[in-house]
Amino acid sequence: MSATPPRSTESTAFRSALDVIRGVEPRVADAIGQELADQREMLKLIASENYASPATLLAMGNWFSDKYAEGTVGRRFYAGCRNVDTVEALAAEHARELFGAQHAYAQPHSGIDANLVAFWAILADRVEAPALAAAGVRNVNDLSDADWAELRSAFGNQRMLGMSLDAGGHLTHGFRPNISGKMFDQRSYGTDPATGLIDYEALRAQAREFKPLVIVAGYSAYPRLVNFRIMREIADEVGATLMVDMAHFAGLVAGKVLTGDFDPVPHAQIVTTTTHKSLRGPRGGMVLCDDSLKDQVDRGCPMVLGGPLPHVMAAKAVALAEARRPDFQDYAQRVVDNARALAEGLMRRGATLVTGGTDNHLNLIDVASSYGLTGRQAEAALLDSGVVTNRNAIPADPNGAWYTSGIRIGTPALTTRGLGGAEMDEIAALIVTVLSATEQGKTSKGAVSKAQHVLDEKTSDEVARRASDLVAGFPLYPGVDLS
Ligand code: PLP
Repeated sequence: MSATPPRSTESTAFRSALDVIRGVEPRVADAIGQELADQREMLKLIASENYASPATLLAMGNWFSDKYAEGTVGRRFYAGCRNVDTVEALAAEHARELFGAQHAYAQPHSGIDANLVAFWAILADRVEAPALAAAGVRNVNDLSDADWAELRSAFGNQRMLGMSLDAGGHLTHGFRPNISGKMFDQRSYGTDPATGLIDYEALRAQAREFKPLVIVAGYSAYPRLVNFRIMREIADEVGATLMVDMAHFAGLVAGKVLTGDFDPVPHAQIVTTTTHKSLRGPRGGMVLCDDSLKDQVDRGCPMVLGGPLPHVMAAKAVALAEARRPDFQDYAQRVVDNARALAEGLMRRGATLVTGGTDNHLNLIDVASSYGLTGRQAEAALLDSGVVTNRNAIPADPNGAWYTSGIRIGTPALTTRGLGGAEMDEIAALIVTVLSATEQGKTSKGAVSKAQHVLDEKTSDEVARRASDLVAGFPLYPGVDLS
């Protein structure tokens, strides 16, 4: 954890906050304290989680939460926003500097909101603006009812090409149950069945044939690099806007591990992210874009959002300032080194990884072919053993998106705690011990179950003890003592 203030300062801050909360609803104070205890105990391998710094956490718990500030910096629909202006401008400035972006919008409350802002900014730019120009008006309120009806129908008839969920894409990239799949006429690109990698020539052919308005790149569960220069080339060739959702790997971009063709910011017209995954900030979202989309993005409110969360924007500014420090680059490199060490440890012990390894912060274990388990069974067996992961679909998953055949594991959180290559090898050993000892369970009618698993208590207890010993050597929030 960077720039740790003296131990007593952090302890005093968090203890005082809990004392105040305890005076109103002690059960909430207890749950907050217990959450810290649980997180300290856990071997957390959830690829989308991290541990924000005390400064980031504390920036969120204050009176900024009470303030309405619809609008943008210096142009609000409410009076009295000068302090919100300060933190929003700081968050945007840090983001622009960190990522080399022309414009940054720090208001989205989450990754899904950031993606909605981006989709509607693209639709406003590519569909609404030409319709307004053709009608000779400046605002949708000035359109005739007939022109408005035509525009609304045009919004609903646009095409998007995004990565499929089972290849590692996110549900906001056009999955039908999500609003993105309902808003757009969507097609998915997958990965090459032989290699598990994105096949850019197949994608190019698909884009030429489908002619999407938007191509979405980015992923939640793809363990390799994406070449954004090629993605932009394909988008330009078919007249699409390239949107990159870097929610998962923003920390690797910020930490200059992903550069050149693998840094989305110079290549995409619009980039979205969460701030709480590898970037290690507060829960929230953000949009970066080039100047061509700046005005549309800044209309996130009222287009998609209501009032921003000024307390979270304050925390974003703190976390982004932290990510601009040189030690964040060291952190980002260690995240990737650790993911590689974990991959090697797993494969050496016989586990099958989707794509045969990793280039980023995550690995995807194919537990169906390695161990004859569903992802759900593997996830539960690992949890019994003190190893926290999540199940995930793999390409062409025979077990579907609920049971799945994969386990996704990521290193951002444990790297923040300071674990390194030797610990990753030990973790690989623990995971393989559990998965090798786990069997499929039976349903109440005696059939093979996709949900139930059988793991002997001796193994799960032994692994849980080793996992707990391992993390105990790397104290979490060492400056915070709530006892
Ligand atoms: N985009 C990607 C690629 C993600 O992985 C996620 C979350 O897992 C999101 C967007 C959504 O983020 P949030 O949960 O903050 O809405």
